Amino acid sequence: MAGTVTYMDHAATTPMRASAIAAMMPFLDGVYANPSGSHRFARLARKSVDEARDLIASLVGCKPGEIVFTGCGTESDNAAIVGVVRRRGGVAVCPAAEHHAVLHCVEHLGGRVVAVDANGAVDLDALRTALDDSVSSVSVMAVNNETGVITDMRAVSALVRRHAPNAVLHTDAVQAACWIDLRDLWPLVDSMAVSAHKFGGPKGVGALIVREGVTFEPIVLGGGQERDRRSGTHNVAGIVSMAEALRATDAERAHEVARITALRDTLLAGLSAIPGVRRTVPDSVSVPGVAHVCIADVESESLLYLLDEADVCASAASACASGAMEPSHVLLAMGVEREWSAGALRLSMGHTTTAADVERTVQVVTAAVERIRTAAARLKRA
Ligand code: PLP
Repeated sequence: MAGTVTYMDHAATTPMRASAIAAMMPFLDGVYANPSGSHRFARLARKSVDEARDLIASLVGCKPGEIVFTGCGTESDNAAIVGVVRRRGGVAVCPAAEHHAVLHCVEHLGGRVVAVDANGAVDLDALRTALDDSVSSVSVMAVNNETGVITDMRAVSALVRRHAPNAVLHTDAVQAACWIDLRDLWPLVDSMAVSAHKFGGPKGVGALIVREGVTFEPIVLGGGQERDRRSGTHNVAGIVSMAEALRATDAERAHEVARITALRDTLLAGLSAIPGVRRTVPDSVSVPGVAHVCIADVESESLLYLLDEADVCASAASACASGAMEPSHVLLAMGVEREWSAGALRLSMGHTTTAADVERTVQVVTAAVERIRTAAARLKRA
């Protein structure tokens, strides 16, 4: 299957790296001990978790003790926001274009949701208005999962430190790891969520990086693993594999940013030859991996159906929303008109994307749009 599809949905999940698969194998078939045990075999597993923690710490620029292994990015966001507000009380704040893993936490806590600008980045004036001494948690994503828009985290950090001095500043960096050096992001925030399956590791493992001294109420209670911050038997294979995936991502990042930027230029040039295609956000404000367009007189649902039929994997919005063709909450928050948001298409690229994938995607999208428009015109005439 994998060899036959043109995979343009890396923002939903990116294929595992061969080195990350190799790294996890010994722990699926060999070192199966529970790292919390007291025997020698358990210590072997624990040593591997500790080494993975040290490696990730060196790639993020944090202390090993600041890493809490979790089950996914969603859990990391929940722990950071719900956990902090349960511990400290106070108000949670986030922008309207956050991933639901953040937005639903803030809404659940009765917090403040602030406006974004036309590109989907947090509106700094609106954020300023929402900040005061009562705010205990502010969460702003580093990179938007639908449009790829990058947050100016330096500006957000300065604003939050000044106007909400009691707040823990969290960033959802789930979409950032492939494109942005996490060492540049980490000094600006108090906590950060990452998820292995977005950078070539396995699904079902992530991390919350949380600054020493910042406490939160654990949301998974039990045996007290991860220094009482996240109970549950460690996913040893997943953790070791995630560390390797992040190492490889970090090592290749500069090269990949340049390579994928060139591929996106080709992709967008090809798509812009189709009448009525509009780039949703300018290239200059987005990570290279995401090309989000809106296409006039086309419903995303029909388009995705035809792309799927031609073995091109793409998405209309975030993967979670693409089952139900509601207008995306991100595009709504950005103020994109219904006639454009109805034809939203996210093509996202990553470490396995080739020039041939881009060429084929342009051909298939062009043909699909033409087919939809021809059918609509015929229906109108009938
Ligand atoms: N945050 C962002 C920005 C995402 O893109 C995703 C996944 O789509 C998540 C959080 C959730 O991560 P996970 O799938 O690991 O729960």
